[in-house]
Amino acid sequence: MTDLRQTDASPDDDTIDDAPGSATYRIDAATFTAPRLAPGLHVVATPIGRLADVSLRALETLAGADTIACEDTRVTRVLLERYGIRNRLVSYNDHNAAERRPRLLAALDEGKAVALVSDAGTPLVSDPGFKLVGEVIAAGHRVIPVPGPSAMLAALVASGLPSDAFLFAGFLSPKSEARRHRLEALARVPATLIFYESPHRLADCLADAVAVLGPERPAAMARELTKTFEEIVRAPLGALAETFAARSVKGEVVVVIGPPAEETTSAADVDAMLRAALARQAPGKAVAEVARLTGFDRKALYERAMALKSGGGEPPR
Ligand code: SAM
Repeated sequence: MTDLRQTDASPDDDTIDDAPGSATYRIDAATFTAPRLAPGLHVVATPIGRLADVSLRALETLAGADTIACEDTRVTRVLLERYGIRNRLVSYNDHNAAERRPRLLAALDEGKAVALVSDAGTPLVSDPGFKLVGEVIAAGHRVIPVPGPSAMLAALVASGLPSDAFLFAGFLSPKSEARRHRLEALARVPATLIFYESPHRLADCLADAVAVLGPERPAAMARELTKTFEEIVRAPLGALAETFAARSVKGEVVVVIGPPAEETTSAADVDAMLRAALARQAPGKAVAEVARLTGFDRKALYERAMALKSGGGEPPR
């Protein structure tokens, strides 16, 4: 075994090894025997497009499990066939989960190893599995993560947007009003926002994002990641919305939006926001909206709203 401590590379080594590559790689011989798995629920991430993205441990787990619970047996079978795995598949999806959970829990009670996969990426991430994991934990069984691909992380790391703090918000509502409401709730979160979106709603989603978050924030649209037609478009939110208002897309899409600029909202800005909100709705709702957008204290905003209504008062702090 190589002892890494014997290399003479300094800890901040930045040299480049530019020996010519052979463009080949090996995975020892051919057929591997999966090790015996620990009893419990193994939550296994699978590729989001390119089958070669599967991890060796995922293959071991899928080969060694007593049962594989998957969203759609036809989809999972493609992955298993690619790697010569023959194993028992049971479907576990939004339509049959309530009926299937007791059966999977019974298998765990018998000391079996059950693997959970979704059609693509990491189970539970906008995919089935949350209730199952909760019940498995409550029943005292192990939950063993087998990490791997997820579209949200692939999109984030290629977006060029800040990755030190991010918030994955799943799918926005297909309805504009609910979508805007959710975006308003997220507007002041000091983190990069990540959304899954269907290609035919992309233009509407971006238009609502511009209406709520403004056109300036840096953003990216990542499509068909790891697949043949992978595409990443990076632009300020307004320009991104214009691009996709004029161009329809196909495939699977992630929208990534950078955090709000770190600027302090001035008292005059708050007054303007309060006046605009008061013109549209009752004071309680107006104050709630401005509190959400600015992060200011509701009580102080309410006092300011009352003062504005009666024509004066100290601005909020
Ligand atoms: N569990 C999956 C994961 O970990 O990424 C997500 C499943 S969710 C039902 C499907 C959504 O994920 C798609 O509508 C799309 O927004 C996103 N997605 C999945 N694969 C993708 C890909 N290859 N490129 C871009 N987005 C993808």
